[in-house]
Amino acid sequence: MADPIFQRLALIGIGLIGGSIALGARRHGLAAHVAVNSRTPETLARAKELGLGDSWHDDPADAVRGADCVILCIPVGASGETAKAIAGALEPGAIVSDVGSVKGAVVAQMAPYLPNNVHFVPAHPVAGTEYSGPDAGFAELFENRWSILTPPPGTDPDAVEKLAKFWRGLGANVEIMDPAHHDLVLAITSHVPHLIAYNIVGTAAHLEEVTASEVMKFSAGGFRDFTRIAASDPTMWRDVFLNNREAVLEMLGRFSEDLTALQRAIRYGEGDALFDLFTRTRAIRGGIIDAGQETAEPDFGRPHGADDDNDGA
Ligand code: NAP
Repeated sequence: MADPIFQRLALIGIGLIGGSIALGARRHGLAAHVAVNSRTPETLARAKELGLGDSWHDDPADAVRGADCVILCIPVGASGETAKAIAGALEPGAIVSDVGSVKGAVVAQMAPYLPNNVHFVPAHPVAGTEYSGPDAGFAELFENRWSILTPPPGTDPDAVEKLAKFWRGLGANVEIMDPAHHDLVLAITSHVPHLIAYNIVGTAAHLEEVTASEVMKFSAGGFRDFTRIAASDPTMWRDVFLNNREAVLEMLGRFSEDLTALQRAIRYGEGDALFDLFTRTRAIRGGIIDAGQETAEPDFGRPHGADDDNDGA
């Protein structure tokens, strides 16, 4: 196995993403030592039981001391206070990164606290599941997914390349983007879809004419696929919307206009308009499958003969 990219990798936060980085780094020999911090003793103890790291720290500053790479794997809204807590203990020359789903707000929250002698290279692995916590982590999470790096202008290219190499080592493809552009792209590809899922599941929960048991029973009609997304972590997603407000509102505005056009097409019986849109959207799904970002199997590869009525997964 090649030499590790980092001698001491500090993971601040060890849930789905931190745990998956820890497991992937171990599998591919990317870090000689993984130092782990989590906010609560319970999560830290569970991560230790699962063997996700090499040393365990109640205090994030202890975890980052001597680390040549520090990755914050915590909710976006906690980035600023955590950057403040670790700033004084950072090793000169260290790479400081994160995995937050929003980039502009993370840069704005963290940059003021970071000393000039570290390399700040924010990142967002576009990979996840609806599960959270250390038990949810798995080494393959990033394979064939994208990790977007958003280094501020003037960042040392060697530091950017070193972090890119680490992500490639975890199996990801790497793209460099401006934080504002990242936030716009992710607003439409991830944030608004989650909001729509949360909303439709909430609407179903409020229906009085349709009983809760009917919603469960007939969920395979499409609703079920929204419930997977709407089961995603409430803290994480609250922070995403509060911290990517502008881009999400921009995309929601466009979405509402298009929805109104569809409403109109249904009201006036404009079947051609509906058919044209549905034909174009089917092609988009084909493109996602061709790009290797989704399975082509029917029903997302759910086993044939599965009892749809009772499948709450
Ligand atoms: P997670 O499984 O819920 O784990 C969160 C970790 O952050 C835990 O170690 C938790 O510690 C810690 N934490 C929670 N609140 C904190 C706070 N206020 N201050 C400091 N630490 C705190 O979350 P995750 O899914 O790994 O998400 C982590 C980050 O990855 C988020 O920024 C998210 O935007 C980003 N991300 C998530 C996904 C996804 O699909 N889930 C995909 C890409 C990127 P305790 O358990 O000890 O409280």
